[in-house]
Amino acid sequence: MQPLRDLEIGAVFWAGRDPGETLGELTAIGVRCGQIGIPGDFSLVGAADRWKTALQAEDFPVVTAFCAYNGESYADIPTVRQTVGFIPRDTREEREKRTCAVSDFAREVGIPSIGTHIGFVPEDDTNLDYLAVRGMVRRVCDYAARNKQTFALETGQESADTLLRFFIDVNRENLRINFDPANMVLYGTGDPIDALGTLALHVVSVHCKDADWPPKGIPSALGEEKPLGQGAVGMERFVRKLKSMDFKGPLNIEREVPDPAQRLRDIAMAVKLLEKLR
Ligand code: MG
Repeated sequence: MQPLRDLEIGAVFWAGRDPGETLGELTAIGVRCGQIGIPGDFSLVGAADRWKTALQAEDFPVVTAFCAYNGESYADIPTVRQTVGFIPRDTREEREKRTCAVSDFAREVGIPSIGTHIGFVPEDDTNLDYLAVRGMVRRVCDYAARNKQTFALETGQESADTLLRFFIDVNRENLRINFDPANMVLYGTGDPIDALGTLALHVVSVHCKDADWPPKGIPSALGEEKPLGQGAVGMERFVRKLKSMDFKGPLNIEREVPDPAQRLRDIAMAVKLLEKLR
């Protein structure tokens, strides 16, 4: 693999379709590296060999494998609380196993980090769910460490201060942050650039995503994701802040609209914007 340029243009993409086709679409619009999302229902049997071969053929480094889980829904804030990440009690055991399986997949492909949304971390550090989730994060960190990986928590569902307190309490050397500025806006948790400053020391990877704030007066509502540069994040400010932190990792464009054609068009537009800002 070619070494990556500083702030290389990357994208988040999902396993599930043919690896060569998926990577071909991205390289055609100027994406040179990225992060692979692993859907909960994706079969990992034989997948590492297929992806490793395709990534080598395209000379396309992947910096993170992201776990999503069966049964998650991001419909609105109460649904996220009930379904996402390590918080729902009934699925903890199965999701911990799946995260370890994705860590093994990442090791076989040669991906140096795994990541996930662990869900809303409770603010009260004596809460039983807080303690259970902290235990899970520690065990996943230890598993990932044996695979020589970092484990990255995605930002946004709690404030940067709450996440930092939890992060310090977990107390694992290979724990990191995947910083997504748009999530801070979508969940109304705080100014994304201030949050990036709070978490700067621990950020291993970033998403470049944009969004508008939630509508006022509806506490359950999420904001709306936007094409990069058209939301409230302020991409110029975001990239400037990353440079001031001496962050050199890829700028991973994340676009979550369901229509694949629109998704690709928006990523192509985002590549052009980030090429100007990086
Ligand atoms: Mg994200």
